[in-house]
Amino acid sequence: MLRLSIGNDKWTDEFETQIEELDITDLWTLQVNENNLENGGLKFERETFGSFRCSYCRHHWSSSVIHIRFLITLDRPCKRGIVNMKIAKQSCKMCNCGVMEKPQISDENIKIMIKNLVLKINRTFYEKEKDGRHLRSINYYNEPKGPHDKDHCEDCQEGHSYLEEPWYQDVSHHKETKSQQGLSTALTVAGVTVGLGALALACMAFSNPKNSSKK
Ligand SMILES: [Zn+2]
Ligand SMILES: [Zn+2]
Repeated sequence: MLRLSIGNDKWTDEFETQIEELDITDLWTLQVNENNLENGGLKFERETFGSFRCSYCRHHWSSSVIHIRFLITLDRPCKRGIVNMKIAKQSCKMCNCGVMEKPQISDENIKIMIKNLVLKINRTFYEKEKDGRHLRSINYYNEPKGPHDKDHCEDCQEGHSYLEEPWYQDVSHHKETKSQQGLSTALTVAGVTVGLGALALACMAFSNPKNSSKK
């Protein structure tokens, strides 16, 4: 069942649930902003799928490019982390009334977006989850990712440019696994060597009395 959400509680609740699963003592909060985000902090930007309804002419549309921006800061001495978040609105192109509407985003895509955010926090501030993958949002509308209507997108109109980081670029994990494999091979070889050494000693111990009796 496709459940949609406009309110901000879903985002903050989901964030609290997922951040609690990290093994950390810092206290994190997520704030959903209506206005533009201040500068400062670690930038994290993503796109998701969602739908809109024009409050003026009731036209309904879906979008595969809804920008979501996060600004992440951690005050280590105070053990407090804050994530400021902004979801880009869009305006209707049918009536061109210019009213910026909030998107409806499914619970699943909220979960996915928060999962990506928490992964980013865990990697950046706690150097964990090196092998986690960023997840793609679910496109319920089965629409190909067509050209983004920048003229009716709040963030594009305000001149934000977006650079998507590759979804999976973690080469370090593979290196780590290889070096771990190398280490365990070396340990096994060492173990066999030690084993052979002990066997040789045992053979000597058995053969020595005979040798000495012959002499
Ligand atoms: Zn309209
Ligand atoms: Zn845009």
